[in-house]
Amino acid sequence: MNKRTFIRRFAALLASPVISPLLAWASKIKLKNWAGNLEYSTDRLYSAKSLEQVQSYVKKQSKLKVLGTRHCFNNIADSTHNFLSLKSMDDVVVLEPEAHTVTVHAGMTYGQLCPYLDSRGYALHNLASLPHISIAGACSTATHGSGEKNGNLATAVSALEIVTEAGEVVKLSRLEDGEAFLGAVVGLGALGVITKITLDIQPTFLMRQYVYENLPLSEVKNHFDAIESSAYSVSLFTDWQKERVNEVWIKSRVEEGQAFDATPEFFGAKRATKNLHPIAELSAENCTEQMGVPGPWYERLPHFRMGFTPSAGKELQSEYFVPRQHAVEAILAVERLRDQVSPHLMISEIRTIAADNLWLSPCYEQPCITIHFTWKQDWPAVRKLLPVIEKELVPFKARPHWGKLFTMSPAELKFIYKKLPDFIQLSKKYDPQGKFRNEFLSTNVFRN
Ligand SMILES: Cc1cc2nc3c(=O)[nH]c(=O)nc-3n(C[C@H](O)[C@H](O)[C@H](O)COP(=O)(O)OP(=O)(O)OC[C@H]3O[C@@H](n4cnc5c(N)ncnc54)[C@H](O)[C@@H]3O)c2cc1C
Repeated sequence: MNKRTFIRRFAALLASPVISPLLAWASKIKLKNWAGNLEYSTDRLYSAKSLEQVQSYVKKQSKLKVLGTRHCFNNIADSTHNFLSLKSMDDVVVLEPEAHTVTVHAGMTYGQLCPYLDSRGYALHNLASLPHISIAGACSTATHGSGEKNGNLATAVSALEIVTEAGEVVKLSRLEDGEAFLGAVVGLGALGVITKITLDIQPTFLMRQYVYENLPLSEVKNHFDAIESSAYSVSLFTDWQKERVNEVWIKSRVEEGQAFDATPEFFGAKRATKNLHPIAELSAENCTEQMGVPGPWYERLPHFRMGFTPSAGKELQSEYFVPRQHAVEAILAVERLRDQVSPHLMISEIRTIAADNLWLSPCYEQPCITIHFTWKQDWPAVRKLLPVIEKELVPFKARPHWGKLFTMSPAELKFIYKKLPDFIQLSKKYDPQGKFRNEFLSTNVFRN
Protein backbone atom coordinates (compact mmCIF):
# COMPACT_ATOMS: atom_id res chain seq x y z
CA MET A 1 0.00 0.00 0.00
CA ASN A 2 1.48 3.37 -0.95
CA LYS A 3 1.46 6.34 1.44
CA ARG A 4 -1.44 8.13 -0.28
CA THR A 5 -3.67 5.02 -0.23
CA PHE A 6 -2.83 4.46 3.44
CA ILE A 7 -3.79 8.03 4.36
CA ARG A 8 -7.04 7.77 2.38
CA ARG A 9 -8.01 4.46 4.02
CA PHE A 10 -7.04 5.69 7.49
CA ALA A 11 -9.13 8.87 7.04
CA ALA A 12 -12.10 6.75 5.87
CA LEU A 13 -11.69 4.52 8.93
CA LEU A 14 -11.72 7.50 11.28
CA ALA A 15 -14.93 8.77 9.71
CA SER A 16 -16.70 5.40 9.93
CA PRO A 17 -19.65 5.22 12.33
CA VAL A 18 -18.08 2.25 14.13
CA ILE A 19 -14.78 3.94 14.91
CA SER A 20 -15.99 7.51 15.62
CA PRO A 21 -17.76 6.75 18.93
CA LEU A 22 -14.75 4.76 20.09
CA LEU A 23 -12.47 7.66 19.26
CA ALA A 24 -14.73 10.07 21.09
CA TRP A 25 -14.55 7.78 24.10
CA ALA A 26 -10.80 7.29 23.83
CA SER A 27 -10.10 11.01 23.53
CA LYS A 28 -12.45 11.70 26.47
CA ILE A 29 -13.51 14.97 24.86
CA LYS A 30 -16.59 15.99 26.76
CA LEU A 31 -19.48 17.71 25.07
CA LYS A 32 -19.65 21.33 26.28
CA ASN A 33 -21.64 24.45 25.53
CA TRP A 34 -20.14 27.18 23.33
CA ALA A 35 -18.60 29.17 26.20
CA GLY A 36 -17.18 26.01 27.78
CA ASN A 37 -18.66 26.85 31.20
CA LEU A 38 -21.03 23.87 31.07
CA GLU A 39 -20.07 20.25 30.49
CA TYR A 40 -23.20 18.47 29.34
CA SER A 41 -24.33 15.46 31.37
CA THR A 42 -24.04 12.97 28.52
CA ASP A 43 -22.04 12.54 25.32
CA ARG A 44 -24.69 10.39 23.68
CA LEU A 45 -25.53 12.40 20.58
CA TYR A 46 -27.45 11.25 17.53
CA SER A 47 -27.41 13.36 14.40
CA ALA A 48 -30.59 13.02 12.33
CA LYS A 49 -30.61 13.66 8.59
CA SER A 50 -34.34 13.44 7.88
CA LEU A 51 -37.76 13.84 9.45
CA GLU A 52 -38.17 10.04 9.42
CA GLN A 53 -34.92 9.61 11.34
CA VAL A 54 -36.08 12.18 13.91
CA GLN A 55 -39.40 10.38 14.33
CA SER A 56 -37.88 6.95 14.70
CA TYR A 57 -35.20 8.20 17.14
CA VAL A 58 -37.74 10.04 19.31
CA LYS A 59 -39.99 6.97 19.46
CA LYS A 60 -37.11 4.80 20.69
CA GLN A 61 -35.82 7.09 23.48
CA SER A 62 -37.36 7.48 26.92
CA LYS A 63 -35.69 10.89 27.41
CA LEU A 64 -33.83 13.31 25.16
CA LYS A 65 -33.05 16.96 24.44
CA VAL A 66 -32.44 18.66 21.13
CA LEU A 67 -29.13 20.45 20.98
CA GLY A 68 -28.97 23.55 18.78
CA THR A 69 -25.71 25.45 18.39
CA ARG A 70 -25.02 25.17 22.20
CA HIS A 71 -24.91 28.94 22.84
CA CYS A 72 -26.95 28.92 26.07
CA PHE A 73 -25.03 29.56 29.26
CA ASN A 74 -27.28 27.60 31.63
CA ASN A 75 -28.45 23.97 31.53
CA ILE A 76 -31.63 24.59 29.52
CA ALA A 77 -30.34 22.34 26.72
CA ASP A 78 -28.72 19.71 28.93
CA SER A 79 -29.66 16.04 29.09
CA THR A 80 -28.54 13.19 31.31
CA HIS A 81 -29.82 10.71 28.71
CA ASN A 82 -29.54 11.59 24.99
CA PHE A 83 -28.99 14.48 22.62
CA LEU A 84 -30.53 14.82 19.20
CA SER A 85 -28.81 17.15 16.74
CA LEU A 86 -30.47 18.56 13.62
CA LYS A 87 -27.23 20.15 12.42
CA SER A 88 -27.37 18.18 9.16
CA MET A 89 -30.93 19.36 8.50
CA ASP A 90 -29.88 22.88 7.64
CA ASP A 91 -31.39 23.80 4.29
CA VAL A 92 -34.17 26.03 3.03
CA VAL A 93 -37.41 24.12 2.44
CA VAL A 94 -39.27 26.81 0.52
CA LEU A 95 -39.22 30.55 -0.08
CA GLU A 96 -42.74 31.89 -0.65
CA PRO A 97 -42.57 35.53 -1.76
CA GLU A 98 -46.35 35.87 -2.00
CA ALA A 99 -46.86 34.73 1.56
CA HIS A 100 -43.79 36.78 2.66
CA THR A 101 -42.31 33.72 4.34
CA VAL A 102 -39.38 31.34 4.22
CA THR A 103 -39.51 27.82 5.67
CA VAL A 104 -36.26 26.19 6.79
CA HIS A 105 -35.18 22.94 8.39
CA ALA A 106 -34.57 23.51 12.07
CA GLY A 107 -30.82 22.89 12.06
CA MET A 108 -30.20 26.02 10.01
CA THR A 109 -28.39 29.00 11.55
CA TYR A 110 -29.07 32.67 10.86
CA GLY A 111 -25.57 32.81 9.39
CA GLN A 112 -26.65 30.31 6.73
CA LEU A 113 -30.11 31.74 6.07
CA CYS A 114 -29.37 35.47 5.83
CA PRO A 115 -27.09 35.53 2.74
CA TYR A 116 -29.57 33.16 1.01
CA LEU A 117 -32.46 35.54 1.70
CA ASP A 118 -30.50 38.66 0.79
CA SER A 119 -29.35 37.20 -2.53
CA ARG A 120 -33.02 36.72 -3.45
CA GLY A 121 -34.06 40.20 -2.35
CA TYR A 122 -35.36 39.47 1.15
CA ALA A 123 -34.54 40.20 4.78
CA LEU A 124 -35.56 39.35 8.34
CA HIS A 125 -36.76 42.13 10.64
CA ASN A 126 -33.95 41.76 13.17
CA LEU A 127 -31.02 39.66 14.35
CA ALA A 128 -29.22 38.95 17.63
CA SER A 129 -25.68 40.17 18.35
CA LEU A 130 -24.32 37.13 16.49
CA PRO A 131 -25.44 35.13 13.43
CA HIS A 132 -23.84 31.85 14.57
CA ILE A 133 -26.91 30.55 16.45
CA SER A 134 -29.53 28.07 15.24
CA ILE A 135 -32.87 29.62 14.33
CA ALA A 136 -34.85 27.02 16.28
CA GLY A 137 -32.64 27.31 19.39
CA ALA A 138 -32.75 31.11 19.31
CA CYS A 139 -36.53 31.33 18.92
CA SER A 140 -37.05 28.67 21.62
CA THR A 141 -35.44 31.00 24.19
CA ALA A 142 -36.87 34.32 22.89
CA THR A 143 -33.51 35.56 21.67
CA HIS A 144 -33.63 39.24 20.70
CA GLY A 145 -31.77 42.10 19.06
CA SER A 146 -32.53 45.75 19.66
CA GLY A 147 -34.96 48.37 18.36
CA GLU A 148 -38.03 49.99 19.86
CA LYS A 149 -40.27 48.72 17.09
CA ASN A 150 -38.61 45.32 16.75
CA GLY A 151 -40.03 42.28 18.49
CA ASN A 152 -37.66 39.48 19.50
CA LEU A 153 -36.56 36.97 16.83
CA ALA A 154 -39.37 34.56 17.73
CA THR A 155 -41.96 37.15 16.69
CA ALA A 156 -40.99 36.42 13.07
CA VAL A 157 -42.09 32.78 13.41
CA SER A 158 -45.35 32.12 11.58
CA ALA A 159 -45.42 28.30 11.65
CA LEU A 160 -43.68 25.32 13.26
CA GLU A 161 -43.44 21.63 12.47
CA ILE A 162 -42.84 19.65 15.66
CA VAL A 163 -42.19 15.95 16.27
CA THR A 164 -43.92 15.08 19.54
CA GLU A 165 -43.09 12.50 22.18
CA ALA A 166 -44.98 9.79 20.27
CA GLY A 167 -43.00 10.51 17.11
CA GLU A 168 -45.99 12.20 15.50
CA VAL A 169 -45.71 15.29 13.32
CA VAL A 170 -47.73 18.31 14.47
CA LYS A 171 -48.02 21.58 12.54
CA LEU A 172 -48.88 24.80 14.31
CA SER A 173 -49.37 28.14 12.61
CA ARG A 174 -50.12 31.72 13.58
CA LEU A 175 -53.10 31.76 11.22
CA GLU A 176 -54.74 28.52 12.25
CA ASP A 177 -53.78 27.63 15.80
CA GLY A 178 -54.25 30.79 17.84
CA GLU A 179 -53.23 30.41 21.47
CA ALA A 180 -51.56 27.00 21.08
CA PHE A 181 -49.21 28.52 18.50
CA LEU A 182 -48.49 31.53 20.73
CA GLY A 183 -47.62 29.13 23.54
CA ALA A 184 -45.41 26.90 21.40
CA VAL A 185 -43.08 29.41 19.73
CA VAL A 186 -40.95 30.26 22.76
CA GLY A 187 -41.12 26.61 23.75
CA LEU A 188 -37.85 26.15 25.71
CA GLY A 189 -37.48 22.80 23.97
CA ALA A 190 -40.32 21.41 26.10
CA LEU A 191 -42.91 20.47 23.48
CA GLY A 192 -40.87 18.28 21.17
CA VAL A 193 -38.42 18.50 18.30
CA ILE A 194 -38.92 21.48 16.00
CA THR A 195 -38.10 20.11 12.56
CA LYS A 196 -39.25 23.01 10.36
CA ILE A 197 -39.72 26.66 11.11
CA THR A 198 -41.40 29.33 8.96
CA LEU A 199 -40.34 32.98 9.30
CA ASP A 200 -41.81 36.26 8.07
CA ILE A 201 -39.64 38.01 5.52
CA GLN A 202 -39.61 41.51 4.02
CA PRO A 203 -37.82 43.18 1.09
CA THR A 204 -34.06 43.41 1.65
CA PHE A 205 -32.63 46.69 2.94
CA LEU A 206 -29.31 48.41 3.44
CA MET A 207 -28.05 49.74 6.76
CA ARG A 208 -25.33 51.95 8.17
CA GLN A 209 -23.77 51.50 11.58
CA TYR A 210 -22.25 54.29 13.67
CA VAL A 211 -20.56 54.07 17.05
CA TYR A 212 -20.34 56.96 19.52
CA GLU A 213 -18.10 57.03 22.58
CA ASN A 214 -18.63 58.35 26.10
CA LEU A 215 -22.32 59.13 26.43
CA PRO A 216 -22.86 60.83 29.83
CA LEU A 217 -25.17 58.87 32.14
CA SER A 218 -27.02 62.13 32.83
CA GLU A 219 -28.05 62.19 29.14
CA VAL A 220 -29.33 58.61 29.40
CA LYS A 221 -31.31 59.68 32.45
CA ASN A 222 -32.82 62.76 30.81
CA HIS A 223 -33.18 61.65 27.18
CA PHE A 224 -33.54 57.87 27.21
CA ASP A 225 -36.54 57.84 24.86
CA ALA A 226 -34.92 60.19 22.35
CA ILE A 227 -31.68 58.18 22.37
CA GLU A 228 -33.44 54.85 21.89
CA SER A 229 -35.77 56.10 19.17
CA SER A 230 -32.96 57.74 17.18
CA ALA A 231 -32.54 54.75 14.84
CA TYR A 232 -33.81 51.29 13.85
CA SER A 233 -31.64 49.58 16.48
CA VAL A 234 -29.70 51.17 19.33
CA SER A 235 -27.41 49.44 21.86
CA LEU A 236 -25.69 51.05 24.83
CA PHE A 237 -22.51 49.36 26.08
CA THR A 238 -21.29 50.30 29.54
CA ASP A 239 -18.87 49.09 32.19
CA TRP A 240 -20.89 51.21 34.71
CA GLN A 241 -17.76 53.27 35.46
CA LYS A 242 -17.29 57.07 35.36
CA GLU A 243 -21.04 57.78 35.03
CA ARG A 244 -20.98 57.22 31.29
CA VAL A 245 -21.97 54.73 28.62
CA ASN A 246 -18.74 53.64 26.89
CA GLU A 247 -20.17 53.01 23.41
CA VAL A 248 -23.48 53.68 21.66
CA TRP A 249 -24.08 51.43 18.63
CA ILE A 250 -26.57 52.91 16.19
CA LYS A 251 -27.88 50.78 13.34
CA SER A 252 -29.90 52.74 10.84
CA ARG A 253 -31.75 51.81 7.66
CA VAL A 254 -30.64 53.93 4.73
CA GLU A 255 -34.10 54.65 3.29
CA GLU A 256 -35.38 58.19 3.31
CA GLY A 257 -37.19 58.99 6.52
CA GLN A 258 -35.28 56.28 8.43
CA ALA A 259 -31.69 57.41 7.92
CA PHE A 260 -29.80 58.53 11.03
CA ASP A 261 -28.18 61.96 10.87
CA ALA A 262 -24.66 61.09 12.03
CA THR A 263 -23.59 64.39 13.54
CA PRO A 264 -20.12 64.45 15.21
CA GLU A 265 -21.82 64.61 18.63
CA PHE A 266 -24.78 62.60 19.89
CA PHE A 267 -26.17 63.70 23.28
CA GLY A 268 -22.63 64.62 24.33
CA ALA A 269 -21.04 61.41 22.98
CA LYS A 270 -18.39 61.68 20.22
CA ARG A 271 -18.56 59.82 16.93
CA ALA A 272 -15.84 57.12 16.84
CA THR A 273 -13.07 57.51 14.29
CA LYS A 274 -12.47 53.79 13.77
CA ASN A 275 -14.31 50.47 14.11
CA LEU A 276 -14.62 49.36 17.75
CA HIS A 277 -15.36 46.15 19.69
CA PRO A 278 -17.91 46.50 22.52
CA ILE A 279 -15.10 45.35 24.83
CA ALA A 280 -12.67 48.13 23.94
CA GLU A 281 -9.52 46.02 24.42
CA LEU A 282 -10.61 43.39 21.88
CA SER A 283 -10.05 43.54 18.13
CA ALA A 284 -12.77 45.14 16.04
CA GLU A 285 -11.91 42.66 13.29
CA ASN A 286 -14.55 40.36 14.80
CA CYS A 287 -17.21 43.06 14.54
CA THR A 288 -19.53 44.15 11.77
CA GLU A 289 -18.54 47.18 9.71
CA GLN A 290 -19.13 50.60 11.33
CA MET A 291 -18.23 54.21 10.39
CA GLY A 292 -21.44 54.61 8.38
CA VAL A 293 -20.35 52.28 5.58
CA PRO A 294 -23.55 51.03 3.93
CA GLY A 295 -24.06 47.27 3.81
CA PRO A 296 -26.71 44.56 3.80
CA TRP A 297 -29.00 44.24 6.83
CA TYR A 298 -27.44 40.93 7.92
CA GLU A 299 -23.94 42.43 8.05
CA ARG A 300 -25.01 45.38 10.21
CA LEU A 301 -27.77 44.12 12.55
CA PRO A 302 -25.48 41.67 14.44
CA HIS A 303 -22.51 43.16 16.29
CA PHE A 304 -20.30 40.19 15.39
CA ARG A 305 -19.30 38.74 12.03
CA MET A 306 -19.92 35.20 10.90
CA GLY A 307 -16.64 33.29 10.74
CA PHE A 308 -15.18 35.20 13.71
CA THR A 309 -15.49 34.61 17.45
CA PRO A 310 -18.40 36.68 18.77
CA SER A 311 -18.12 38.54 22.07
CA ALA A 312 -15.09 37.41 24.14
CA GLY A 313 -15.41 33.60 24.01
CA LYS A 314 -14.39 32.61 27.52
CA GLU A 315 -17.21 34.33 29.38
CA LEU A 316 -20.55 34.01 31.14
CA GLN A 317 -23.72 35.95 30.36
CA SER A 318 -26.83 37.07 32.27
CA GLU A 319 -29.62 39.35 31.09
CA TYR A 320 -32.78 40.84 32.58
CA PHE A 321 -35.82 42.23 30.77
CA VAL A 322 -37.35 45.26 32.48
CA PRO A 323 -40.72 46.75 31.43
CA ARG A 324 -39.98 49.80 29.35
CA GLN A 325 -41.63 52.29 31.70
CA HIS A 326 -39.04 51.46 34.37
CA ALA A 327 -36.03 51.74 32.05
CA VAL A 328 -34.21 54.65 33.63
CA GLU A 329 -34.96 53.64 37.24
CA ALA A 330 -33.66 50.11 36.56
CA ILE A 331 -30.50 51.36 34.84
CA LEU A 332 -29.78 53.65 37.79
CA ALA A 333 -30.44 50.80 40.24
CA VAL A 334 -27.78 48.67 38.53
CA GLU A 335 -25.43 51.63 38.25
CA ARG A 336 -25.53 51.96 42.05
CA LEU A 337 -24.09 48.44 42.23
CA ARG A 338 -21.11 49.39 40.03
CA ASP A 339 -18.43 48.70 42.66
CA GLN A 340 -19.75 45.18 43.18
CA VAL A 341 -20.41 44.50 39.50
CA SER A 342 -17.33 45.94 37.82
CA PRO A 343 -14.61 43.57 39.10
CA HIS A 344 -16.42 40.62 37.48
CA LEU A 345 -17.71 42.34 34.36
CA MET A 346 -16.37 42.48 30.80
CA ILE A 347 -19.20 44.68 29.53
CA SER A 348 -22.93 45.38 29.89
CA GLU A 349 -25.37 46.12 27.10
CA ILE A 350 -28.73 47.88 27.23
CA ARG A 351 -31.23 47.26 24.40
CA THR A 352 -34.93 47.83 23.69
CA ILE A 353 -37.51 45.32 22.43
CA ALA A 354 -41.12 45.71 21.34
CA ALA A 355 -43.98 43.92 23.11
CA ASP A 356 -45.30 40.63 21.72
CA ASN A 357 -47.93 38.00 22.46
CA LEU A 358 -45.79 34.86 22.83
CA TRP A 359 -46.59 33.26 26.20
CA LEU A 360 -43.08 32.71 27.54
CA SER A 361 -41.46 35.69 25.87
CA PRO A 362 -40.09 38.09 28.49
CA CYS A 363 -41.74 40.81 26.36
CA TYR A 364 -45.19 39.20 26.62
CA GLU A 365 -47.63 42.11 26.44
CA GLN A 366 -44.97 44.63 27.50
CA PRO A 367 -42.23 46.52 25.66
CA CYS A 368 -38.94 46.06 27.50
CA ILE A 369 -35.40 47.17 27.88
CA THR A 370 -32.79 44.51 28.56
CA ILE A 371 -29.83 44.90 30.87
CA HIS A 372 -27.20 42.39 29.85
CA PHE A 373 -23.95 41.38 31.57
CA THR A 374 -20.98 39.67 29.89
CA TRP A 375 -19.08 38.31 32.90
CA LYS A 376 -15.58 37.00 33.36
CA GLN A 377 -15.79 33.24 33.61
CA ASP A 378 -15.87 33.01 37.41
CA TRP A 379 -19.15 31.30 38.29
CA PRO A 380 -18.67 31.27 42.10
CA ALA A 381 -18.31 35.08 42.04
CA VAL A 382 -21.11 35.64 39.53
CA ARG A 383 -23.43 33.28 41.42
CA LYS A 384 -23.01 35.47 44.53
CA LEU A 385 -23.62 38.65 42.55
CA LEU A 386 -26.74 37.67 40.59
CA PRO A 387 -29.10 37.61 43.63
CA VAL A 388 -27.87 41.11 44.53
CA ILE A 389 -28.75 42.41 41.04
CA GLU A 390 -32.01 40.46 40.93
CA LYS A 391 -33.04 41.93 44.31
CA GLU A 392 -32.55 45.47 42.96
CA LEU A 393 -34.68 44.60 39.93
CA VAL A 394 -37.55 42.98 41.90
CA PRO A 395 -39.60 46.22 42.05
CA PHE A 396 -39.64 46.25 38.23
CA LYS A 397 -40.70 42.61 37.86
CA ALA A 398 -37.62 41.93 35.75
CA ARG A 399 -37.60 38.66 33.83
CA PRO A 400 -34.39 36.70 33.16
CA HIS A 401 -33.25 35.59 29.68
CA TRP A 402 -34.14 31.87 29.41
CA GLY A 403 -30.75 30.97 27.91
CA LYS A 404 -28.47 32.89 30.27
CA LEU A 405 -27.47 32.55 33.92
CA PHE A 406 -29.92 33.60 36.65
CA THR A 407 -30.68 32.63 40.25
CA MET A 408 -34.37 33.57 40.55
CA SER A 409 -36.50 30.92 42.21
CA PRO A 410 -39.25 28.94 40.43
CA ALA A 411 -41.81 30.79 42.58
CA GLU A 412 -40.50 34.14 41.32
CA LEU A 413 -40.66 32.90 37.72
CA LYS A 414 -44.26 31.83 38.25
CA PHE A 415 -45.09 35.26 39.62
CA ILE A 416 -43.61 37.12 36.66
CA TYR A 417 -44.70 34.72 33.88
CA LYS A 418 -48.49 34.77 34.06
CA LYS A 419 -48.77 32.24 31.25
CA LEU A 420 -46.60 29.60 32.92
CA PRO A 421 -49.56 27.44 34.05
CA ASP A 422 -51.00 27.50 30.50
CA PHE A 423 -47.58 26.60 29.10
CA ILE A 424 -47.36 23.60 31.46
CA GLN A 425 -50.74 22.37 30.20
CA LEU A 426 -49.71 22.85 26.58
CA SER A 427 -46.43 20.97 27.10
CA LYS A 428 -48.26 18.10 28.77
CA LYS A 429 -50.54 17.83 25.75
CA TYR A 430 -47.60 17.21 23.40
CA ASP A 431 -45.24 15.56 25.89
CA PRO A 432 -47.39 13.82 28.53
CA GLN A 433 -44.55 11.56 29.74
CA GLY A 434 -42.01 14.38 30.05
CA LYS A 435 -39.67 12.89 27.44
CA PHE A 436 -38.26 16.36 26.61
CA ARG A 437 -38.02 17.51 30.23
CA ASN A 438 -34.64 18.01 31.86
CA GLU A 439 -33.46 19.39 35.17
CA PHE A 440 -33.80 23.01 34.00
CA LEU A 441 -37.41 22.54 32.90
CA SER A 442 -38.39 20.38 35.88
CA THR A 443 -37.03 23.00 38.28
CA ASN A 444 -37.95 26.27 36.62
CA VAL A 445 -41.15 25.43 34.79
CA PHE A 446 -42.81 22.19 35.89
CA ARG A 447 -42.22 22.60 39.65
CA ASN A 448 -44.59 25.56 39.47
C1 LIG B 1 -21.71 35.14 22.21
C2 LIG B 1 -23.18 35.08 22.45
C3 LIG B 1 -23.97 36.16 22.10
C4 LIG B 1 -25.35 36.11 22.31
N1 LIG B 1 -26.11 37.18 21.93
C5 LIG B 1 -27.43 37.17 22.18
C6 LIG B 1 -28.25 38.27 21.82
O1 LIG B 1 -27.80 39.20 21.17
N2 LIG B 1 -29.56 38.25 22.18
C7 LIG B 1 -30.10 37.21 22.87
O2 LIG B 1 -31.29 37.25 23.21
N3 LIG B 1 -29.36 36.12 23.18
C8 LIG B 1 -28.05 36.08 22.85
N4 LIG B 1 -27.30 34.97 23.16
C9 LIG B 1 -27.99 33.79 23.72
C10 LIG B 1 -28.45 32.85 22.60
O3 LIG B 1 -29.04 33.52 21.57
C11 LIG B 1 -29.45 31.83 23.12
O4 LIG B 1 -28.85 31.15 24.13
C12 LIG B 1 -29.97 30.87 22.04
O5 LIG B 1 -30.95 30.05 22.61
C13 LIG B 1 -28.88 30.03 21.43
O6 LIG B 1 -29.38 29.15 20.45
P1 LIG B 1 -28.73 27.69 20.33
O7 LIG B 1 -29.24 27.03 19.12
O8 LIG B 1 -27.26 27.79 20.47
O9 LIG B 1 -29.39 27.01 21.59
P2 LIG B 1 -28.99 25.73 22.45
O10 LIG B 1 -28.27 26.18 23.66
O11 LIG B 1 -28.38 24.67 21.64
O12 LIG B 1 -30.49 25.31 22.85
C14 LIG B 1 -31.37 26.23 23.46
C15 LIG B 1 -32.74 25.61 23.71
O13 LIG B 1 -33.40 25.40 22.46
C16 LIG B 1 -33.79 24.05 22.34
N5 LIG B 1 -33.72 23.67 20.94
C17 LIG B 1 -32.74 23.90 20.06
N6 LIG B 1 -33.06 23.41 18.86
C18 LIG B 1 -34.30 22.87 18.97
C19 LIG B 1 -35.19 22.19 18.10
N7 LIG B 1 -34.89 21.97 16.83
N8 LIG B 1 -36.37 21.73 18.59
C20 LIG B 1 -36.70 21.94 19.88
N9 LIG B 1 -35.90 22.57 20.76
C21 LIG B 1 -34.72 23.03 20.30
C22 LIG B 1 -32.80 23.28 23.22
O14 LIG B 1 -33.31 22.01 23.62
C23 LIG B 1 -32.67 24.24 24.38
O15 LIG B 1 -33.77 24.11 25.25
C24 LIG B 1 -25.94 34.96 22.93
C25 LIG B 1 -25.14 33.87 23.26
C26 LIG B 1 -23.78 33.91 23.01
C27 LIG B 1 -22.95 32.72 23.35
